[in-house]
Amino acid sequence: MKDVQAYSVEISGAQKNYGHLAALDDFNLRIEPGQFTVLLGPSGSGKSTLIRAIAGIERLDAGAITFGDRSIAGPGLHVPPEKRDLAMVFQDYALWPHMSAFENVEYALRRRKISPEKVNSRVEEALERVGLAGKGKNYPFQLSGGEQQRVALARAVVGRPSLLLFDEPLSNLDADLRERLRVEIATLTREIGSTALYITHDQSEAFALADQIGVLKSGKLQQLDTPEKIYRKPANRFVAAFTGISGSFTGKVTSSDGKNVTVQIGNVQIECKSSTGLKVGDDAEVLLRPSATSIEAKKHNTLSGTVLDVAYRGRGYEHVITCELGVISGVYASEPSTRGDKIDIYVDPHNCLAFAI
Ligand code: ADP
Repeated sequence: MKDVQAYSVEISGAQKNYGHLAALDDFNLRIEPGQFTVLLGPSGSGKSTLIRAIAGIERLDAGAITFGDRSIAGPGLHVPPEKRDLAMVFQDYALWPHMSAFENVEYALRRRKISPEKVNSRVEEALERVGLAGKGKNYPFQLSGGEQQRVALARAVVGRPSLLLFDEPLSNLDADLRERLRVEIATLTREIGSTALYITHDQSEAFALADQIGVLKSGKLQQLDTPEKIYRKPANRFVAAFTGISGSFTGKVTSSDGKNVTVQIGNVQIECKSSTGLKVGDDAEVLLRPSATSIEAKKHNTLSGTVLDVAYRGRGYEHVITCELGVISGVYASEPSTRGDKIDIYVDPHNCLAFAI
């Protein structure tokens, strides 16, 4: 199916103000052709404003947007949405209620110079590809939420757009369905070869989908990197905290070579990584990734703790442990400990991140 001419997307100096509030604040981003980029950020960080500006539904106050070598938004320029060769999947599906599933998908091809037979076969193919073969005659009210979102997905891909935009498309679905549809979005988008931009506030969704993740805060891009780099080398405390931590403690730096630092927290010395160049004597906050901790004793970086809680997670058990540093959650082990047990916790310095306070 890979017959799409994917283009790069570049946003430079984008600004969008609502009164005194900057929804986008000198925002810059480049997405390579065919790449799947997820923008991750809390509610109000500017994700919708950005994706709507790229779609052409929203106008920027300043800045420019380029698709490949084509300017589509900038000073005095606003190419309308239908001329941008893109399709969007919305959180609330946005299907036409008076049209059947087939007609909703067909609608995306209405302006194409394609024979009726070809239109029919492409719509049928798209519906089949999203698992809705035989449901083309159903109206949205006769379909479940998951099925409606599949229609929206079929409608988005049927025209084989160069750019696919996803605006929190899984937020309204139940957990198991969300997981299945996430996989389908990932495989279908890559199969077609379109450039994809997906926004979400859910870090697990972002990590599962993305070739690269952009983390947003207050209308600014904090970091744009592969999921692995975002996890291992978050650019700042906000990125680290928003992408999953199981404990946070404050102390003072007692040794540092710029990258490897030791932080004194109470009576304990913890070795960690720093990506922001901490110096001896600096006050520091230490953030533990969930993968940093294990129930075992090593010669260094080992804490004594007491089990507060145990939760069965299918593949094993997650423990909440109180130790001399404070409370650590999400400590994984294949076998359960009992509440009140005294245990040792090893903290892997590679997933233990220190930031200046
Ligand atoms: P997100 O999608 O990350 O939740 P939004 O882009 O929707 O963030 O919003 C960014 C900021 O802009 C928020 O503070 C929001 O309240 C504000 N905002 C968005 N749209 C409007 C609007 N039409 N009028 C006023 N403020 C808005």
